[in-house]
Amino acid sequence: MSSALKISGIRKCFGQGDNTVEVLKRIDIDVAPGEFLILVGPSGCGKSTLLNIIAGLEEPTEGSISIGNKNVVGVPPAQRDIAMVFQSYALYPTMSVAENIGFALEIRKVPKAERQARIAEVAAMLQIEHLLDRRPSQLSGGQRQRVAMGRALARNPQLFLFDEPLSNLDAKLRVEMRAEIKRLHLLSGITSVYVTHDQVEAMTLGSRIAVMKGGVLQQLGTPDEIYNRPANTYVATFIGSPT
Ligand code: ADP
Ligand code: MG
Repeated sequence: MSSALKISGIRKCFGQGDNTVEVLKRIDIDVAPGEFLILVGPSGCGKSTLLNIIAGLEEPTEGSISIGNKNVVGVPPAQRDIAMVFQSYALYPTMSVAENIGFALEIRKVPKAERQARIAEVAAMLQIEHLLDRRPSQLSGGQRQRVAMGRALARNPQLFLFDEPLSNLDAKLRVEMRAEIKRLHLLSGITSVYVTHDQVEAMTLGSRIAVMKGGVLQQLGTPDEIYNRPANTYVATFIGSPT
């Protein structure tokens, strides 16, 4: 079976000697091509650490990560075919929206005509064609978030990683951007791993959900399975299943 992302026996310890803390305890997750996988759990359960290991920003203590059936442990982040969206999206303030979106292509020496075509395509996907000449300071919070996603999309990565991208937004905008992320995923079909501590976000966005607690994967399943057949009382309580 082909998998877009395979997380096998991942352990991560921080600290040394008596101060060693095991924050990920043998995590196994297989993500199919085109899936939108949610990592959900309370603050401190290891979600960001796992995402950073996938991205190559942290090395695992044990275990392996394969992206598109290629083992990437030891491969630097820039050489992994991934794009990451964080909550604090830093756009380049002196560049226009178009330049921000095209920058990653420019440093990869993609020819100008091809770059412009890709910027237009991404802008159309995000419905920000009318903003291409603006500077980030001339955008609303939601528009900036769209540009940040456009910048990540422009490279057409094999894998999209999101770390709580909406947690700084107000409630109304969060709901709007949630729908936007869903729409973009349906359009692009890019395999995604999305970290959140928000149960509603998990249930509405995920094709499958991995519920974590204390570095342990509690359950991996579809929203329906997680909600209606929680593996234990922790999952039931966290997701708010009917009892
Ligand atoms: P989450 O994203 O689920 O809130 P994290 O992955 O950020 O959780 O953190 C998991 C645990 O690992 C926390 O207890 C955190 O304090 C600890 N941790 C994260 N990064 C480091 C680090 N660089 N050094 C030591 N401990 C860390
Ligand atoms: Mg985190």
